[in-house]
Amino acid sequence: MTAPGGITCRELVELVSDYVDGSLEPKTRERLEVHLRACAGCTEYVHQIRTTVRLASAAALEQHPDGAALLEAFRTFRRR
Ligand SMILES: [Zn+2]
Repeated sequence: MTAPGGITCRELVELVSDYVDGSLEPKTRERLEVHLRACAGCTEYVHQIRTTVRLASAAALEQHPDGAALLEAFRTFRRR
C-alpha cells in the first residue's frame, strides 16, 4: 500500500471527519493534504464527505424552527 505523506488511505479515512471539522492538528493536516495531492481516490472521498456534511447540516437546520438563523450563524462561523 502506498502512503503519501506517511499516511495510508485507511488512516486517512479515520482522520477525515476531524479534517472536515478543521479540528486536526496542523502537522497531521499537512500530511493528510500531501496524501490528497497524490491520491485521487482519497481526494474524491474527502469531497464526498464534505458534500455529505454540508447537506446533512443544511437538512438538519431546516427542520429547526430557527433554522435560517442558525444556518446563517453556521456560515459565519465557517468563514472565520
Ligand atoms: Zn489515499
